[in-house]
Amino acid sequence: MEFAISYYGCQKCTERVNCDRCKEELEEKLLRDLNIQHVDIQMGPKRMVLDSRLEADELEELLEEYGIFVQ
Ligand SMILES: [Zn+2]
Repeated sequence: MEFAISYYGCQKCTERVNCDRCKEELEEKLLRDLNIQHVDIQMGPKRMVLDSRLEADELEELLEEYGIFVQ
């Protein structure tokens, strides 16, 4: 699945610009917490590619809890 995303978590960090450090932390968190086999977040173009067994609706709700909003 591929999504266009907005991520608000980075606005709490010192960089505030969707930095690579936040990207890595976020990817680790998602892999650990959700039923996701693969995830790649591109902060620049704000895209996210992932493999999950979850339904898209279910996934979107979970992602919102992490500050990721799918468009
Ligand atoms: Zn950041």
